[in-house]
Amino acid sequence: MRYWINLFFIFLTTFAYGEDKTTLYDFRYWSAPDHTRIVIDKEEDTLFNIRGYDNHVVISFDDAEVLSETFSNIFFKDSRIQKVRIKREKSTIKLIVHISKKFKLKHFTLDPNTKYKHHRLVVDIVDSEVKVAKKITKPDSPPSIRNQKIILIDAGHGGEDSGAIGKNKSLEKNVNLAIARKLVAIINQNKDLNAVLSRSGDYYVPLTKRLTIAQNQKATMFISIHADSVESINAKGASVYTLSEKGNNSKLARQLEESQNVVDQFGGVETVIDNDQFLKNILTDYSRKDREKQSFELAQEIISQLEKIGPIHKKIPQKANFVVLKSPSIPSVLVETAFISNPTQEKRLTNKRQQQKIAQSIYQGIVNYYQELD
Ligand SMILES: [Zn+2]
Repeated sequence: MRYWINLFFIFLTTFAYGEDKTTLYDFRYWSAPDHTRIVIDKEEDTLFNIRGYDNHVVISFDDAEVLSETFSNIFFKDSRIQKVRIKREKSTIKLIVHISKKFKLKHFTLDPNTKYKHHRLVVDIVDSEVKVAKKITKPDSPPSIRNQKIILIDAGHGGEDSGAIGKNKSLEKNVNLAIARKLVAIINQNKDLNAVLSRSGDYYVPLTKRLTIAQNQKATMFISIHADSVESINAKGASVYTLSEKGNNSKLARQLEESQNVVDQFGGVETVIDNDQFLKNILTDYSRKDREKQSFELAQEIISQLEKIGPIHKKIPQKANFVVLKSPSIPSVLVETAFISNPTQEKRLTNKRQQQKIAQSIYQGIVNYYQELD
């Protein structure tokens, strides 16, 4: 009798192990002009297989289960993805993604970090017909006229990288893009200027790629739009940063530097600084001194305009070693429009009229800077 009971328990435990499934926690899709990114939150040891055929991608997982609350997130459509189907074959779950364009597949995994508790599988479906550099030209701007000054407007964060999150759950990436879009629209009303966005939607652009876009567009000015965040809910006001290779001049700048420069981990880049040589070339640029002076002057002009519409956190331009400010020889500034960590300021940042006022002030700062140059 004892023997049979033991055997019964052995059977039960092996059965239980067989049922020990790995969980797929969530599914997110981000549409960019040249690719669609699929992100799947999974367990560390989840076994997966990714294959691309003529017009579909199959991502399969062994012994996996999907949480009921995230099940509907699987089904997504955009200009590339016609439909997504899910198929169970014995213990395997297959995600079948139907693609409407010729594509190339790329995938990598990301370990958890301070912002993401899950392991992530990232699958990029990249257009193979159009060259990436051509595809990203001027999503929101009219064709360039001769002698126009081209200004790259960089909306910080995007896609997997939300940036800071306000007390009322506003995401910095959305606020940045809203202000950046308004700024581009205002700038493009001026026939001497032509503004270009580094991202035109909710997707992630690696930091060094933002610089490459500026270079490809022959931009003569680089303005990155962000919102500040600290532990305290009372901090308020705008700050404008310029690049300092030596690093920052304040504790806040140092914290910011760290948080801004590691966003590639959140946004999803295989290696954090993906093109070190590119950065080194920039750092040895001859016109660096000139760029520093110009950036400082541009920052001053923007601060004096922002001062007219709201509180200022730092009245003089701050220095920090931000990757996005390393454009060669062109004035580059990073504007922290307000503190999203302060609920009153968060309200202001998400208000369309206030966003317009902020954009208008940055624009006026740009115009005054150019007038000083003439
Ligand atoms: Zn930011």
